[in-house]
Amino acid sequence: MNIYITKEEIEGKTPIPYKDIGHKSLLQSDALYNYILETSVFPREHPCLKELRDITDKHPLNLMATSADEGQLLSMLIKLINAKNTLEIGVYTGYSLLCTALALPSDGKVLALDISREYYQLGLPMIEKAGVAHKIDFREGLALPLLDELLQDENNKGTFDFVFVDADKNNYLNYHKKVIELVKVGGLIGYDNTLWTGSVALPDDAPMLEFIRNYRGYVIEVNKYLAQDSRIEICQLAVGDGITLCRRIG
Ligand code: SAM
Ligand code: CA
Repeated sequence: MNIYITKEEIEGKTPIPYKDIGHKSLLQSDALYNYILETSVFPREHPCLKELRDITDKHPLNLMATSADEGQLLSMLIKLINAKNTLEIGVYTGYSLLCTALALPSDGKVLALDISREYYQLGLPMIEKAGVAHKIDFREGLALPLLDELLQDENNKGTFDFVFVDADKNNYLNYHKKVIELVKVGGLIGYDNTLWTGSVALPDDAPMLEFIRNYRGYVIEVNKYLAQDSRIEICQLAVGDGITLCRRIG
C-alpha cells in the first residue's frame, strides 16, 4: 500500500508482512485489481516508468511508491486541466514525479520537494532516460519551510495548476494552509492516502498496524477539514489508498 511509513518502522523488530498491508488498492479482490493493471494500466505504461517501478520494488520502503493505476490517473488529470506549472510534495523514487513530467507539455515545470535526495536519485536515471529531467526542479529539504520560502514571493501565489501532496500525513493540514495560496483559482490539489488503508472508517478500538494507527487521526482530521473548506470543491476517489481532489474556487 502506498502509505507513508518510516525507515525505522519498516526496519523495526517486527517487520510488517506485505500480506498485512495488501496490494496498492483498496479493492478487496486481488484478481480484479490485477485485471485493471494487466488490462488498462501496464500495457500503456511508459517503459521508463516500468523501469523506475521495477527498481523501486527492490527498495525496502517500496510500499510508499505511487501505484501504476494512480500514476495513470495523475497523468490524465494533468492533461485534462492542461497543467503547465505543478508542485509535488513527497517524491520518494519519483514514480508520480515521472508520471507528471511525462504528462506535462515540453515547456511545463514541476517543482518537487522531498527531505531525501537519496531516494530521488534512485529514480533519476529513468527520468533522464525518459528525456523529461529538464521539466523538474527538485529541492531537498523539509517541505513546510520550502513552501514558506515560496510564499514569501508574492509572484508565486496562485500560480500552480496542479499540486500533488504525498508526504508526511501529520502535516497535511499545514500543507493545505500553504498550498491553497499557491494553487491558482480553478487549479487542482490532490491529497494522497486519504482513506489510509480503509482505517478511517474503522472504530478506534479496531485492530490495526501501529503505523496505520499513528497517522490515522491526522488523516481523519484532514478529511473533515477539506469537507468543510468553502475555498474548494472536493471529490474523494478510492484509487490507490484514496486520493482527495480539491479544486480551488476561492
Ligand atoms: N509520491 C511518491 C511516489 O510516487 O513514489 C511517494 C512519496 S512517499 C509516500 C513520501 C515521501 O515524503 C518520502 O520520500 C519522504 O522522504 C518524504 N517526506 C516525508 N516527510 C517529509 C517532509 N516533512 N518534507 C519533505 N518530504 C517529506
Ligand atoms: Ca501516496
